[in-house]
Amino acid sequence: MTTPTDVLTPDGSDGKAAAADADGLAIRTLSPTIVYSALDTSPRGLTTAAADARLRQFGSNELPRAAHPAMWRQLAAQFTDLFAVVLLIASAITFLAYALQEPRDVGTLQLAVAILGVVALNASIGFAQEYSAERTAESLQAMVPHTCRVLRDAVLRELPARELVHGDVVLLEAGDAVSADCRLVEAHDITVNNAAITGESDAVGRSHEPERQGPVLEARNCVFMGTDVVAGTAKAVVFATGRSTEFGRIFQLTAAAPRQKTPLQHQVASMARRVAGTALAVGALLFAVRLPAGQGLVSAFVFALGVMVALVPEGLPATLSVSLAIGVRRMARRHALVKQLLAVEALGSTTVVCTDKTGTLTQAEMTVVQVWVGGVMHAVSGVGYEPAGEVADPEPVRAVLRTAALCSNARLVPPSEGGRWHVLGDTTEGALLVAAAKAGLDGVAEEGAAPRVGEHPFDSVRKLMSTVHSGADGYHACVKGAPQELLERCTAIDRQSEVIALTDALRAEVMDVNDELAKQGLRVLAAARRELSGPHPDRECVESGLTFLGLVGMLDPPRPEVREAVTACHRAGIRVVMVTGDHPLTAEAVARRVGIVQRADPTVMTGARLNELDDDALDELLAGQGELLLCRVSPEHKMRVVTAFQRRHEVVAVTGDGANDAPALKHADIGVAMGASGTDVAREAAVMVLLDDSFASIATAVRLGRSVYQNIRKFLVYLFSHNIGELVPILAATFAGFPLVPISAVQILAIDLGSDVLPALALGAEPPEDDVMDHPPRSRDERLFSPAVMGRILFLGGIQAAGVCAVFFWHINASGIPYADFTEDSVAYREAITLVQAGIVVSQFFNALAVRTERESVFRAGLLSNLWLLAAGFFGIGLMAAISYLPPLQEVFNTAPLTVTDWAVLGGLGVVLLAAEEARKAWLRHRAARDNGGER
Ligand code: ATP
Repeated sequence: MTTPTDVLTPDGSDGKAAAADADGLAIRTLSPTIVYSALDTSPRGLTTAAADARLRQFGSNELPRAAHPAMWRQLAAQFTDLFAVVLLIASAITFLAYALQEPRDVGTLQLAVAILGVVALNASIGFAQEYSAERTAESLQAMVPHTCRVLRDAVLRELPARELVHGDVVLLEAGDAVSADCRLVEAHDITVNNAAITGESDAVGRSHEPERQGPVLEARNCVFMGTDVVAGTAKAVVFATGRSTEFGRIFQLTAAAPRQKTPLQHQVASMARRVAGTALAVGALLFAVRLPAGQGLVSAFVFALGVMVALVPEGLPATLSVSLAIGVRRMARRHALVKQLLAVEALGSTTVVCTDKTGTLTQAEMTVVQVWVGGVMHAVSGVGYEPAGEVADPEPVRAVLRTAALCSNARLVPPSEGGRWHVLGDTTEGALLVAAAKAGLDGVAEEGAAPRVGEHPFDSVRKLMSTVHSGADGYHACVKGAPQELLERCTAIDRQSEVIALTDALRAEVMDVNDELAKQGLRVLAAARRELSGPHPDRECVESGLTFLGLVGMLDPPRPEVREAVTACHRAGIRVVMVTGDHPLTAEAVARRVGIVQRADPTVMTGARLNELDDDALDELLAGQGELLLCRVSPEHKMRVVTAFQRRHEVVAVTGDGANDAPALKHADIGVAMGASGTDVAREAAVMVLLDDSFASIATAVRLGRSVYQNIRKFLVYLFSHNIGELVPILAATFAGFPLVPISAVQILAIDLGSDVLPALALGAEPPEDDVMDHPPRSRDERLFSPAVMGRILFLGGIQAAGVCAVFFWHINASGIPYADFTEDSVAYREAITLVQAGIVVSQFFNALAVRTERESVFRAGLLSNLWLLAAGFFGIGLMAAISYLPPLQEVFNTAPLTVTDWAVLGGLGVVLLAAEEARKAWLRHRAARDNGGER
C-alpha cells in the first residue's frame, strides 16, 4: 500500500502530477478510515493552518485559463472577413488604375488610400469589439464565484473552490460541480455525471467502498473535477487539485470556443450583403452609363468603384456587436448575467415566464411560525435565522422539531461583524434548526445522543428526506417531507398522550390542518419517525410504516420588488406562470401577494393532474390565457410544460435552481438560473444567471432586451437612410446629364467613417424608452427589416435625398454655367459638393435625434437624455466644418468654404426632417389611440 509520504511528496509541478497519479491508483484501494490518514487529514477536516500551508506549497486549485489566440492572429482574422477582402481587392484595383492612368489623377490615389483606410478602421473596430467582448465574458464569469462546502477545523464552511487543497474534507450534494478529484468516504445514493471527462452523459452511481487497483477513472469510489453530482449526497476527501487532477491533465489549452452569431447578427450580415450586392449593381449601372458619355474607361471605372465602396455599410456588423455587448453589460449591472448574446435578443421577445416560487418570488428567508402536534397548534415567535424567539409551550413540539432537525444537513452560521445569522445549505432545513433551538433543543447534544448512520437525501420527485440514527434504544429513522407524500407512508400517529393507528378520519384532519396553513401562504413540512432493527435498511423500509409526529408551517415573505415587476410583465403582454413543488394553496396565497393571481378562479394544476393530460389536453390548457399555477410539480413536469409552450410558438423563459432543472433550462429559449442559491449544474445549463435570484431582475432583463432590439432598429434606420441621401443625388446627376458627381467617394467615406460611426454607436447605447414595456412582445418571426423599418428608412432617406438634390442643383444652376463646362476645379462645383456633404452631415444630426424614439415625441424623451449622441453629432459637424474650411482638407476633399447662409439653409433642411418625423410619429400615436393600442 502506498504510504502518505510517498504519494504526497511535492517535487515541482510535474512531480505533483505524478504524485497525484500514484494517489489516484492507490487511493481507491483504501478503506475510508485509512483514506484520512493516507492524506494526512481527519474526519474533522484540515486545520486552517495546515490547509494554508498546503495552499502555499502546492498552489491554488485552478486550471490555467484557455489561451486566447495571439493578438496579431485576432487582428489578422479581421482582414479575412468578406467585406474586408472585397474592399482590399477594390483598393488594389484602384491602385492599379492610378498606375495605368495617363495623366495620373491624384484623386484616384486618394480613393485607393481611403479604401485601405476603411479596411483598417473597420478591422480595428472589429478587433477592439471582440477583445472587449472576451474580457466582458471573463469578468462576468468571475462574478459568479465557484464555491464548495468544506470542513475546516471541524466546522462546515463555504470556501472558494480555488482554495481547496488535498486532504480537505468536502460535502457534496445534488447539483454541485465537483471542484477537485476526491475519494468518497461516505456516500448516500450519490450519482454523478462524468460527461466532462469520459464523454458519457449517463449518470453513474458511486459508493465509498474500497476497490481493487485499476484505472483511476473507473474507480467507483472517486469523483473528479469537472463532473457534476446528479443526485444524493456524499462526504469526500480531496486527493488532487488543479493541474494534478484528471481533468487538469486532459484539459487542453484550447482556444476559446468560437462565439456563435445570433439570428439578429445573421439578419444584419445578410442585409449588409444584399446592400453590398445592390451597391455592386449600382456601380455597374453607373459604369455602363458613364462610359458612353465619353469618360475614359479608367475614370468611369474608378467612379463606379468609389460609389460602390461608399454604399457598402462597412461599420454595421461592428456597431451591432457593440450594441449587443452594451446590453449585456447593462443587464449585468442590474444583476442579470447573460452568458450568450443570443439571450439578449430572445429576452426581448419573451412571451411567457415560468417562475419558481422560493427565492425568486419570495425572499427564501424561511421562519417556522406554526407547529401542529397532537391536534394543537403552537405559535413560534421571532423572524429570520437568528435563534431568538420562543414557543409558548415548548415541550409538546420538541419531538417533531428534534426529528426534523436531525433529518437536516444545513448549518446555522452566527453573524460575523454586524452581519446577520444565515444558513449554509437548504434554507427550509435552516428554518427547522432555528425552530428546534427556539424550542430549547441543543443541536450538538441531540446529534451526540443519536448519531447519524445513514441518509436518503431529499429529491423533488419523492419530496421526502430520511436519515437513520443509532441511539440508546437501537436504531431509528427520522423522515421529513411534503405532508401528502409523508402521510401516505405513515401507519400511526403520535397524539402526544398515545400512539394510535392512522385512520382515514385522522388523515383527513391532518390534511385539513395542512390546507389551513398553506392558505396562509406557509410552506408546510411534516415529520415522522420509526424504529429500525439495523443501521442499513433500504430506503423503502426506512420510509414506510412511519409514525406521524406533526406539521411545521414556515413563512417565506414575498420579495417587495416582485409585485411591480409582475405588473410590468403583465402590461408588456408577458404571461407569468408559477411552477412550484409546493402545495397549491401555499402557491396561490403567494401568487396573490405578488400579483400573479388576481382573479378569483385561477387555474391550479398539480403535477399529478398534469400526468393525466395528454399533449393535446396540455396544449389546450396552456392556450387559455388565464392565470395559471403549476404546483407540486417535479422538474420533469417543468420540462414538459416548457416544450408544450414552445409548441405554441411561445418564447419561454424558465427559472431553475436544482440539478434536475438542467434539461428544462437548456430546452427553454431563456434558461434562467439562480446565482445565489442555485446549483452549479443549473448555472451551467442556463443562458442567464440572476445574481440576486429575484424575479424582478428577469423583468428588468426583458426590458433591457427589448430596448437593445429597439436601439438596433434605430441605428439601422439612421445608417441606411443616409445611404439613400448619398445615392439619389448621384443617380439624379447622372441621369440629368451632369458630367461630374454631386458627392465624391472620398466625401462619402468621410461621412460613413467620420461623422456617422459615433452617433450610430451612441444610438446603440440609448437608454430604454419609457414605453418599452407598454406593448406586447414582438413576434419571434418579425424580421429586423420589417415593412415599418423599411418604410421609415425610405421616409427619412427620401427627405434627405430631396433636400440635398435641391441644394446641389440650385447651386449649380444659380452659377449659370452650362453643365458640360463644369470641371472638378470649378468653384461653383466645389461649393456645390461641399453643400451636399454638409447637407447630409447636418441632416444626419437631426436624423439621429428623430430616430431616437419610435412613437413618442423626441422632445418628450428629452433632447439631452443621450449626451453621447449630441456630442457625437457635434463632432460630425465639427469634422465637416474642418473639411470645408481647412486648406489641406479642402485639397483632399475638393471642398470650398461654406457661408453662414449655407449653414442656415442646411440647418433648415434638418429641421424639416425632424418636423416631418415628429408629424409621422404623432400620426402613429393618433392611429394607435384610435385603434385602442392594438397596433404597434
Ligand atoms: P419552490 O417553487 O417554492 O422553489 P420547489 O419547486 O423548490 O418549490 P421543492 O423544493 O421540490 O419545491 O419542495 C417540494 C416540497 O417538498 C415542499 O413543499 C416541502 O414540503 C418539501 N420539502 C422541501 N424541502 C425539503 C427538504 N429539505 N426536506 C424534506 N422535504 C422538503
